[in-house]
Amino acid sequence: MNTHYHERNAMRKDFTERDPGTLAVLAADMGGTRLRAAVVGADGSIALRAERATLPERGPEAVAGDLAAPLSAVAADAAVAGMAADPSVAVAATGPIDADGRLVDPSNLGPAYFGFPLADELAARLGRPVRVGLDTHIALLGEAAHGALVGVRDAVYVTVSTGVGGAVMARGRLIVGAHGLAGEVGHLPVMVGGPRCGCGARGHLEAIASGPAIAAAGDAAARAGRSATLARAAAVAPGGRPSARDVWAAAAAGDAVAAAILARAQAALGRAIAGLVALLDPERVVLGGGVILGDPGPWLDAVRRQVAAGGQAVPGSSVFIVPAALGDDAGLVGCRPFLLGSGVE
Ligand SMILES: [Zn+2]
Repeated sequence: MNTHYHERNAMRKDFTERDPGTLAVLAADMGGTRLRAAVVGADGSIALRAERATLPERGPEAVAGDLAAPLSAVAADAAVAGMAADPSVAVAATGPIDADGRLVDPSNLGPAYFGFPLADELAARLGRPVRVGLDTHIALLGEAAHGALVGVRDAVYVTVSTGVGGAVMARGRLIVGAHGLAGEVGHLPVMVGGPRCGCGARGHLEAIASGPAIAAAGDAAARAGRSATLARAAAVAPGGRPSARDVWAAAAAGDAVAAAILARAQAALGRAIAGLVALLDPERVVLGGGVILGDPGPWLDAVRRQVAAGGQAVPGSSVFIVPAALGDDAGLVGCRPFLLGSGVE
C-alpha cells in the first residue's frame, strides 16, 4: 500500500505542475452538516454555489449522489456562463483519506463509510476526474493562496469546530506526511489521563477543546449540579443536553463553571500550539473553525499567552497568532491551489 501511495504521489506531481492560468475550478466541501459545491475563480473568489444537507444515515452511495448534485448544478451554470473551468473536480473531505480518494474510517460518518471509494463514485457520477483531499490541508492551501497566510512560508493552521484539525506548511510547501495525514493537531496529547477522545485515547486536544467536548463538559457540570445556568440551558435544549454555544452563553452571563470549561479548552489549545511552535518555528499560526471564530478574542489571547510563556528557542513575540481569513470557505477556496498547484510553492 505504501508503494502504491508513493506512485500516486508521483502522479500528483503532474497536477502541481499544471499551469494554474485563469481556469476556474469545480470545488466541493464535504462537511458534517453540509455538502457544498462551488466554482472558484483564479482570484480565489467564489462565483457560483450550491449545497445540500449531509445526511449520513442515507448511506455512502446516496450521500455521494447528494454531493454530485450540487456539483453538477454549478458545473452546468458555469458552462452556461461561459466560464473556462478545469475538467477535474476537487473535493475537501474529513479524513482519513487514502491516496485513491477513498474514505478510510471517518468516525463522523460511521462504519458504513469505511473504505468507501468517494473519488471513484463521484467520478462515475460526474464523468470527470475527481481528486479528494483532506479538508484541513485544503483549507491551509486556501489561506495560503488568498487568506491569512498570503506571503507566509512557514505556518501552522488549526481549526476547532466539531473536531480539531490542522495543517503545517514549511518553506511554502504543505507537509503531507508519510500517510497523507500530517497535521492531526486534534490528537496531540495535552493532558495525562483526561477525557476520552473519539479515537479511543485519553487527553487528546480534541477531547477537551472541540465543540462536542465543550458541550460534554457543560452537560457533566449541569448533571452534577455545579451550574444552575447550564442546568437551565439543558432543560430547554434538544435532547436535554447543553450545546457548546450554551456553555459560551453561560460563561458570557457570568457563570464561573462554564467560564472554567472554556478556559480549560483554550489553555489546552494554547499548550498544543506552544508545542507546535517549539517544534516547527512557524512565522504565523492561523486559528479557524466555528468554535474559535464565534468569539476569537479569548482563544487568541490564550494561545498567545502560552506561546509567549513557552518559547525559549522560538521567542513567542516573533510568532504571529491570527484568526483565519476565509472562514467557512477556506475548504472551497483551497480546492483550486489543491488541484492546480497555485498559490504555494
Ligand atoms: Zn484522539
